[in-house]
Amino acid sequence: MGLTAEMREALAARVRFYRELGIAELYRRPVEARADGVFAPPQEIGEDNPKEDSLAQIESRASTQNQSLAADKAAALKVIREEKIGDCTRCALHKGRHTIVFADGSPDARLMFVGEGPGADEDAQGLPFVGRAGQLLNNMIVAMGLQREQVYIANIVKCRPPQNRTPEPEEANTCVQFLNQQIAVVRPEVIVALGATAATYLLGQRQPLAGLRGRVHQFRGARLIVTYHPAFLLRDPRQKKEAWADLQIAMRELGLKGRDRS
Ligand code: URA
Repeated sequence: MGLTAEMREALAARVRFYRELGIAELYRRPVEARADGVFAPPQEIGEDNPKEDSLAQIESRASTQNQSLAADKAAALKVIREEKIGDCTRCALHKGRHTIVFADGSPDARLMFVGEGPGADEDAQGLPFVGRAGQLLNNMIVAMGLQREQVYIANIVKCRPPQNRTPEPEEANTCVQFLNQQIAVVRPEVIVALGATAATYLLGQRQPLAGLRGRVHQFRGARLIVTYHPAFLLRDPRQKKEAWADLQIAMRELGLKGRDRS
């Protein structure tokens, strides 16, 4: 039995991944699936060159490199949080905060969500999107075929604005430098800006959401997609369909198929 299109795509993605890690040659010939559908055991690639590594060795090295890359990113994020931001008093928002809400999720995420700023639940727990809007965001992430732990979640401002008001330009512009540092470390492939505040301060242009949604923006080496804020969707659930269309753009960019509904 030959490889199906899906298997070929998976194989190609894996080869791309190894190339990105600097491992040049993986397969000399396609790995054939056995008639029972089980992949044949990895072959020694170097029949004609015994010095070449086996697939198992390459996978093991790639996995180690991957783990150390994730550890480096986690360490770099810790420096941003502890040394650069510290016990921040750069803007007025520090006066009312209980906690600085830095971020949540994987330092090595392919997908990042950016919201506006912490609310009461987030301020109390020190994590972004843990209240009702966070529950909806979690559902959106699962519908995309991912778990919350696989993505990275942050906000434009890291301290709760009084009465959950929109951050003032001075507050957002002061704080966004740290978010940009986080983005530079995590290097997500896709960023989803949740709502107008996230879109405005990431893209540096104030425009109605309608003019920014439905297309892919380029932003600091990532593709950026704008959609509605989950808190808005809680108030107007009819717009969920539109938000799902935006998330499908993000999924297409990431090659995700969404939750398996079987
Ligand atoms: N709304 C946001 O924009 N961010 C959060 O973290 C929670 C609610």
